[in-house]
Amino acid sequence: NLPDFGLGSWPARRARINPARTALVQAGRSLTYAGLADRVESLAGALTRRGVRPGDRVAYLGVNDITVFETLFATARCGAIFVPLNYRLSPAEIRYMLDDSGASVLVHSADTAGLVAAAGGLPHGVVIATEGDFEPEIAQGGPAPDIEVRLEDPCLLLYTSGTTGRPKAAVLTHGNLTWNTVNQLAHLDVLGTDKALCIAPLFHCVGLGQITLPTLFKGGSVEPVAKFDPGTILARIGEAGITSFSAVPTMLEMMWRHESWDATDLSSLTCVLYGGSPVAERVAQAWLDRGVKLLQGYGMTEAAPGVSMATHEGTLDHPVAAGVPHFFTDVAALGPELTPQPLDGTPAELLVRGPHVFGGYWNRPGESEASFVEGGWFRTGDVVRVDDDGWAHVVDRVKDMIISGGENVYPAEIEAVAVRLDEVDACAVVGVPDERWGEAGAAFVVVRPGAQLDEPRFRAHLERHLARYKIPKHVQFTDTLPRNATGKIRRVELRTLAAETFTNGSA
Ligand code: ATP
Ligand code: MG
Repeated sequence: NLPDFGLGSWPARRARINPARTALVQAGRSLTYAGLADRVESLAGALTRRGVRPGDRVAYLGVNDITVFETLFATARCGAIFVPLNYRLSPAEIRYMLDDSGASVLVHSADTAGLVAAAGGLPHGVVIATEGDFEPEIAQGGPAPDIEVRLEDPCLLLYTSGTTGRPKAAVLTHGNLTWNTVNQLAHLDVLGTDKALCIAPLFHCVGLGQITLPTLFKGGSVEPVAKFDPGTILARIGEAGITSFSAVPTMLEMMWRHESWDATDLSSLTCVLYGGSPVAERVAQAWLDRGVKLLQGYGMTEAAPGVSMATHEGTLDHPVAAGVPHFFTDVAALGPELTPQPLDGTPAELLVRGPHVFGGYWNRPGESEASFVEGGWFRTGDVVRVDDDGWAHVVDRVKDMIISGGENVYPAEIEAVAVRLDEVDACAVVGVPDERWGEAGAAFVVVRPGAQLDEPRFRAHLERHLARYKIPKHVQFTDTLPRNATGKIRRVELRTLAAETFTNGSA
C-alpha cells in the first residue's frame, strides 16, 4: 500500500487510537471517529466511481454541516482538491468559481439548490445533493483505491474574502494545513476531551483552520453550526459544556449584545478564538471581563491561516493585539528594495514565512509571483507594528491607507476611536479623491438604534483623540455598512459610494 499522510488519512489514523470518541455531532446525530473513517472511505470510493482522480477538484456549496467534513476528508483521501464555496455569493460569482476551479463534482445542500441552478450547475460534471443523493452514494461506495498522497500535494482551494478585489483561490497543500494545525496546537490548550463549536463558515479560513481542524487532529469533538444565531449559540455553550470556538469579531459583538449574555454560563469555555478583521476594544473587553480565555488570531487564507496569536498569559495585558508569531512562523518587515528587515515599533508591511504558507494562487502565475519577495517571504499586504513586549498590532491594510496632504492615514485607527463612542455602532473610513489634499477621508457612521448623535459631536470626539490631519473631511450617517459573509466591510463598494457622494462638487 502507498503512503498517504494527507488529511484524508486523519479519520482512520484517529480511529486507530480512539475509535469510540465522538468526532462530529449535530442536531441529534453524532459520528465516532471509527464511524467517520468508515463513511469517509465509502464516500471516497463513491467519488472514485464518479471519476474523481488525484488533482481533480470537488466543490462544495452549503452551510456548516457534518457532510462538509465527510466530503473534505473523502476528497483528500482520493488525492483530489476540496473547494468549499461561499453560499452567500451571487450566482455569477459562484459560476466564476466553478469555472475558475474547474470542478468536476459539486456537492451541495438542499438550501443551495436554487443557487446551484441559478449559477448554471455543472454542465460537464457530477452534481450530488447532500439530501437525497449522499446516503445512496455512501451505501454503494465501498473502499477507495490505494493512492499516494504527499504533504506537498494540494488539498484545498480556498478563495480569499475578496476584500481588496476579486477573490483568489489559494492552493493549500496537505502540508500547509498540517503545519498550521501543529502551530495552533503549539499555541493553544486544546485537549482530546474538547467540544468545539464550529460557528464561522467552513468556506473561510477562520472556520476551518483556527480551531476546527486542530480539534479533530487532537481527537476532540466538533459540532458544526449551520446558521449563526447569537441566542442559540449562547444557549448551546451552557447546555453542551462547549469548550471552544472560533468566531469573527461581529459574532462576538452580537453575542455580547444579546439579551441572554448576562444569564449564560460561560465557565466551560477554555479557549475562544477570533480573527479576520479588527475587533472593537469594548467587545474584547466584555468577553475578558467575563473571565473567558479570549485569544485574537491574525492570519490570512494564504497562510492556512494562522500567522500570530495572543497567548493565554498575555491577553489581559494586550486585549486587542494580535499576539506573537506561531511556533513555526517567521515574520519580518518589508524594507526598502523589497528586502526583509526586523520588525519594530514602526508600522511596516508584514512578511511571513513558514511551512504553513501557501506556494501560490490557482491559475494566477503573475499574482502568485508578485506576492513573494526574495527568500520565500509572502507579502501579507498588512501594515503591522510590534510593541515593546513583542506583540503584533495589525495597523491596517496597505491598500486601505489614505494619503492625505502627504500624510499616511490609517482608516482602522480612526474607526477604532470612533467606536469608543457609545452611540456609534460601527464606522468605516475610506479615501476619496480630493483636489486640495490628493485624498481625503470619508467616514460612514452607523448610530446605535435609539441613540442620538450629530456630526459636530462626532467630530469633537475624533478631534479629542486624533491629530487634525487624520480627521475625515466627510461624514455620512447611514443605517448599515456593506459587509461580506464573515463580517468584513466591503470597502471597494464603500469607496465607489464615497466617490459618488463626495467628489462631484458636493465637497
Ligand atoms: P482578499 O485577499 O481577497 O482581498 P481578505 O484579505 O479579506 O480578501 P482573508 O484571507 O479572508 O481575505 O483575510 C485575511 C486578512 O484579514 C488579513 O490580510 C488582514 O487584513 C485581515 N485580518 C486577519 N486577522 C486580523 C486581525 N486579527 N486583525 C485585523 N485584521 C485581520
Ligand atoms: Mg487578502
